[in-house]
Amino acid sequence: MESMAKKFDVIVIGAGIMGSCTAYQLAKRGKRVLLLEQFDFLHHRGSSHGESRTIRCTYPEDYYSEMVLESAKLWEEAKAEIGYRVYFKSRHLDTGVPSDKSLQAVIASCQSNSIPHRVLDREQVIHEFSGVFEIPENWIGLATDLGGVLKPTKAVSMFQTLAIKNGAVLKDYMEVNEIKRDNERGGIRVCTKNGSKFWGEKCVVTVGAWMSKLVKTVGNRALPIKPLHTSICYWRIKDGYQDNFSLEKGFPSFSSYGEPYIYGTPSLEFPGLLKIAVHGGYPCDPDKRTWAPALLGNEVTSWIKEKFADRIESTEPVLTQSCMYSMTPDGDFLIDFLGGEEFGKDVVIAGGFSGHGFNMGPAIGRILAEMVMNGEAKGVELKYFKLDRFEENPRGNVKDYEDQVNSVKSKL
Ligand SMILES: Cc1cc2nc3c(=O)[nH]c(=O)nc-3n(C[C@H](O)[C@H](O)[C@H](O)COP(=O)(O)OP(=O)(O)OC[C@H]3O[C@@H](n4cnc5c(N)ncnc54)[C@H](O)[C@@H]3O)c2cc1C
Repeated sequence: MESMAKKFDVIVIGAGIMGSCTAYQLAKRGKRVLLLEQFDFLHHRGSSHGESRTIRCTYPEDYYSEMVLESAKLWEEAKAEIGYRVYFKSRHLDTGVPSDKSLQAVIASCQSNSIPHRVLDREQVIHEFSGVFEIPENWIGLATDLGGVLKPTKAVSMFQTLAIKNGAVLKDYMEVNEIKRDNERGGIRVCTKNGSKFWGEKCVVTVGAWMSKLVKTVGNRALPIKPLHTSICYWRIKDGYQDNFSLEKGFPSFSSYGEPYIYGTPSLEFPGLLKIAVHGGYPCDPDKRTWAPALLGNEVTSWIKEKFADRIESTEPVLTQSCMYSMTPDGDFLIDFLGGEEFGKDVVIAGGFSGHGFNMGPAIGRILAEMVMNGEAKGVELKYFKLDRFEENPRGNVKDYEDQVNSVKSKL
């Protein structure tokens, strides 16, 4: 009886957004699923907690735009199933100089994916976005309808609830320290530090910033996924302007292409405050963090002064929240089978979401569910996410990690 209770079709390890979406997708397909988490559910020590993540479909790479478009539908489906909202819609505004290569690629991607968009000059941006977004004369704005704020902790909780409603079993305080093929019983045996053992026909590993550590332990394979400690910053809106920056009044989620890459969301979760953050962070050990706010240079202060005139207190943020990125060297995700003789296609790993994975969580959950069940996933070019690109560098675009961390990434 004991062992039957511990036998599953699929064991998913790591209950952030990716693991929770995967567990939900598998349970919805009638699979017996176990989701294991090392800490408390909805903890704040990984990447999927807090009050806001941007959703936008403006990516330089078509394959990300497609995943966001699919996810936008899946966010809506989840809302219909659960009965409350985790996705607050707004328009999205990308800004930068017209010659910026990433911005040009984003505009081309909108065209090739038939994403309704408009390229705006300075006056149009000021006119259309509450009169407070003042890009420089020589900049352009790219306006799209698909943007807004996702509520991360609430969203993870929603997918966990939906997974349970569809029959999944969820267990927290289960730190996995062994994943092995069980030649006697068949399938995959998963062991935890506290001595529990579970068996699954298959396994999906979505452990965020712990991915390199765990895969080294269980698969003796070195992954170049680097945890970065970073902070989301909130800035005080000056009196009289609070409405202009609010979601209700049409202020957009936004990205600013340049050095550094800056992004933010409309005022929503903390009235009177605006989230403006810099893409990047400092290398860290996920188990030994300092928790000090990671403030990335002074550029953000001058950026705020220039774009929002005197309407935001730009001396320092009034609130910061710590979080971790899991960076790959090229900023692309890692989604693949762990492979080798031991695991083959029975263990799927997904990580390295490099600061831009949250909004695609629902589509990634669907992809991981199909991969682990069928050995392949429909409607996605998995070649961009393969493990061997780090080993063989077939795309020839893997940049040095430190360069990459300090450079502007357009994929956030
Ligand atoms: C500051 C910041 C801003 C961001 N902004 C955006 C944005 O605007 N838009 C966007 O789309 N994305 C954004 N992202 C990225 C997005 O949040 C992440 O890509 C996403 O949350 C990654 O989810 P995950 O499930 O892979 O990792 P996590 O949420 O970290 O989940 C992994 C889980 O695995 C657990 N785990 C680890 N090891 C073990 C083990 N051995 N046994 C059991 N459990 C284990 C961990 O405790 C954790 O709960 C941002 C990230 C940060 C940090």
